[in-house]
Amino acid sequence: MKVFIDGKYFDEWNAKVSVFDHGLLYGDGVFEGIRAYNGRVFKLKEHIDRLFYSAKAILLNLPLSHAEFMRATVETCRRNKLRDGYIRLVVTRGVGTLGLNPSRCKSPSVIIIAGKIQLYPKEMYLRGMEIVTVPTTRNLHSALNPAIKSLNYLNNILAKIEANNAGCEEAIMLNAEGFVAECTGDNLFIVKAGKVLTPPLSAGALYGITRGTVMDLAREAGHEVAEPNLTRYDLFNADECFLSGTGAEIIPVTKIDGRVIGDGKPGLVTRKLENQYHALTNGSGEPI
Ligand code: PMP
Repeated sequence: MKVFIDGKYFDEWNAKVSVFDHGLLYGDGVFEGIRAYNGRVFKLKEHIDRLFYSAKAILLNLPLSHAEFMRATVETCRRNKLRDGYIRLVVTRGVGTLGLNPSRCKSPSVIIIAGKIQLYPKEMYLRGMEIVTVPTTRNLHSALNPAIKSLNYLNNILAKIEANNAGCEEAIMLNAEGFVAECTGDNLFIVKAGKVLTPPLSAGALYGITRGTVMDLAREAGHEVAEPNLTRYDLFNADECFLSGTGAEIIPVTKIDGRVIGDGKPGLVTRKLENQYHALTNGSGEPI
């Protein structure tokens, strides 16, 4: 595997960053997780757009232009002969001193890894997954805005550990007010009486690119789509539930906190959206 670091390609064993990089020392940086399907990078423009928004929010001056990020991502796939896979694009604050001050960091570092990902076992896509609500709440907007896709993922990791401790692969994170925000690495949807519902960004959801795509597909299929505040009660009494994310794609949820969702099987609307999503991913995106 060839890894892109600051304009050069390194073999996997030699792809290294400094121990003084603030990305490592403080989680100071931003990232994107992107997928390639059938020789095309899916929603690349949207991912680079979001990278710029995250960088702006943390006052990180990106060292490449939007077009240069697009080109470098596609080129990294090309060099790795990647046609289907997962791309991790990371920008760190760069090498600095042993102190928080980001202005002591010389220049941001850009890392692009083109590899593979399998987030959840195949079986769960077939039968649906069981998830739980965990005690760790999603970050406050006023502390670390969940819209920023930063390298500081401890909030999500703590929730993931709590889910794993409960024997589950994924966690529902509530916000400080008790409304559903999202999962640790995925957005959450429910279907109720034909309506497709997902928490609003103001509840602490990431502006998920898969979330946006699913909302478009649902509207095209004639469903009403809305973003109300949701409570656990709404989830328990939903007809269907599923998660969305670049890595996870669309995965049905059939049990939440011990409550069976709908008839306990992946729902028809979920299956339809999954099929539409896969059809879309297969045929669109930036050619590699
Ligand atoms: N929420 C969180 C916390 C995430 O990290 C992600 C991405 N893995 C998502 C939601 C899904 O976003 P996207 O569809 O853009 O991958």
